[in-house]
Amino acid sequence: MAYTTGLHDLGDGCYAWLQPDGGWGWSNAGLVVGDGQSLLVDTLFDLRLTAAMLEGMVDVVGSAPITTLVNTHANGDHCYGNQLVSGAEIIASSAAAEEMAEVPPSLLAGLNSAPGEIGELFRHFFGEFAFDGIELVLPTRTFEGRLEVDVGGKMVELIEVGPAHTKGDTLVYVAEDRTIFTGDILFIGGTPIVWAGPLANWIKACDLILGLDVDTVVPGHGPVTDKAGVAEVRDYLVFVERAAAVRHAAGMSALEAALDIASELEASPFGRLGERGRIAVNVETAYRSLDPTYKAPNIVELFTRMASIEGWQPPV
Ligand SMILES: [Zn+2]
Repeated sequence: MAYTTGLHDLGDGCYAWLQPDGGWGWSNAGLVVGDGQSLLVDTLFDLRLTAAMLEGMVDVVGSAPITTLVNTHANGDHCYGNQLVSGAEIIASSAAAEEMAEVPPSLLAGLNSAPGEIGELFRHFFGEFAFDGIELVLPTRTFEGRLEVDVGGKMVELIEVGPAHTKGDTLVYVAEDRTIFTGDILFIGGTPIVWAGPLANWIKACDLILGLDVDTVVPGHGPVTDKAGVAEVRDYLVFVERAAAVRHAAGMSALEAALDIASELEASPFGRLGERGRIAVNVETAYRSLDPTYKAPNIVELFTRMASIEGWQPPV
């Protein structure tokens, strides 16, 4: 399937909305169309992008309006457009719903317009998005574990697999169509970023998907894939978990370990992945699992490290 911006028909009433190149903030969404109603998987990072997506879905949802919205997790690139899906029931895991309230759009709007180096840094990552005026609409229904949703006769299963990428990650599984929307449990072509962890939990989530009867796998970022894509993400996580543990045992700091692993990654099959600076966050998360008393640095420091590993410096 071509990796182009817009709506892609996966067959059987399942659709993916893709946003190349899948880098920071360029997330995918999904649509499951049943008899007379539809379920939307995630909104996008800002109102302009979400409005364009909903416009692009008009023909498909004309006789099957979106009655349910599922947010796969709390990151803004999967829920900041919620206010445009008026009237729909919004479902998320309890953990995701709680985490959503912690990072309001106004916070990102503030960082994007901050003066000096902090503003430069955040605009480097998020400068293409418009966070002003977004009113975050939170889930109206939460669940824990698993939840079945009937979408006009089509059964959709929500499977909570967090904490992994975030605190409350959810898979959206359409068994009868052998299709799954994974949210950010999968980054294809880009580096996974383990905000919450533990990495072991994310590896377990990959194993769960690999054990399902699925042919079509829609990641949170990157092109539509299959089980081979899931296995690659799993391989990366296993590599990082081991590499971090070895360096932790040898007494290296998390920053030293991240820089060391970054150079090893460059020569590995993972060297072609985008956003390779995310190793800085992934090692911090691994260190927190290895030592629960370990305190990770703040978000500005983490973004500074990611940018620096990728060779970016603030303009002087
Ligand atoms: Zn995302």
